[in-house]
Amino acid sequence: MTYLLKNVHLLEAPEGERTDVLIRGSRIDAIAPQLAAPEGAEVLDASGKTLMPGLINCHTHAYMSLMRNYADDVPFSTWLFERITPIEDSLTNEDAYWGNLLSIMEMLRSGTTAFVDMQMFPRMAVKACADSGMRAHITRGLVGENRGDESAKLRLDQAFDEMEYGRGIGANCSFGLGPHAIYTCGEDLLRYVVELSEERGLPVNIHLAETQYEFDSCMEKHGMTPTAYLNHLGLLDREILLAHCVYLTDEDYALLARPNVHVVTNPASNMKLANGAAPVQRMLREGIQVALGTDSAASNNGLNMFIEMRLLSMVQKAVTKDALALTAEETLKIATANGAAAIGREDLGAVEAGRTADLILINEASENLRPLYNRKASLVYSANGSEVSDVFINGQLLMKDRELLTIDEERVFFETERIAERYR
Ligand SMILES: [Zn+2]
Repeated sequence: MTYLLKNVHLLEAPEGERTDVLIRGSRIDAIAPQLAAPEGAEVLDASGKTLMPGLINCHTHAYMSLMRNYADDVPFSTWLFERITPIEDSLTNEDAYWGNLLSIMEMLRSGTTAFVDMQMFPRMAVKACADSGMRAHITRGLVGENRGDESAKLRLDQAFDEMEYGRGIGANCSFGLGPHAIYTCGEDLLRYVVELSEERGLPVNIHLAETQYEFDSCMEKHGMTPTAYLNHLGLLDREILLAHCVYLTDEDYALLARPNVHVVTNPASNMKLANGAAPVQRMLREGIQVALGTDSAASNNGLNMFIEMRLLSMVQKAVTKDALALTAEETLKIATANGAAAIGREDLGAVEAGRTADLILINEASENLRPLYNRKASLVYSANGSEVSDVFINGQLLMKDRELLTIDEERVFFETERIAERYR
């Protein structure tokens, strides 16, 4: 399809300046005022709208929206091991499919055009992405002590099966390895992940230094911090996403400041599970690459990146007592361009000719954004995601005037309520 967006405001353009944007196939073809519509193009009047790159949610577990508001106001270990894991173990593949689609609906409606997932249900996230047109980087969650463990072997087989399946059906998906954490994966399994990552050219996605307990038990067991332990195993030499990184020592920062390492911060989840606040302002000062994620809807309890951006900035200002910490400009970059870099897609994350068209339109006729003194500040400090009117992924229009074009939302509500009925 070809789309011509007329009279749109770009985030970087001076106030009042409008332009046209031509989307042809999967790419942004041209950006200039008064472009002629090619034959067969759908022309969209975008006056009164701002065009920006889609937000990239770099850490979630999409099927877990089925557990939204199921286990709240409980300690982390109770939340994970007593409430969430038993449900997880009883979900079917079909359940997970509907959970994934529910998450994709929420992400599209709030302007997210790609997400990084740690999945327990091979194929279902891929299928939900293929059916909806959503983009994702998918990693099968791995647990176990040794590479020979039955559960580790089974999960790895599923991971590779899922990659083959995804490539076969042409989903907008890339893949990586997802060892869950240093407290659920043994040293041998983690070393095996390093080997597989090298052999197959796959990036790694892991939770790291999320809780005080994880930090203390790693010190006790290995005599080093979680970050130093990962470095010791060779994981920090790989292309890697590290979710959380709340507990860092002075020495850890230098280990993380590498071009192949991306920290993904999850402010809402860290606060809700009482894990504290990641030292993001310091990470940036130390040259560490930081992206943003929501974590799952079971610990957030949503997947809305506008809310997450606001929390990121506010929390850093609060904990550093520095009002200049995480400016609106820096926060937007973290949620877009840094996210693109984290998933190895430098063609995303900006509105420029030649880039892949993962784009969102913001309706400026929104009372909570007015008056429009500073668009970037309005997006980080005032928006709530409901202002997102249209969403393009890979040049495909997936939401038009807030109507989802590829998802039957009544069906998703019906199926997810049917599943939830079992757990009430
Ligand atoms: Zn997580």
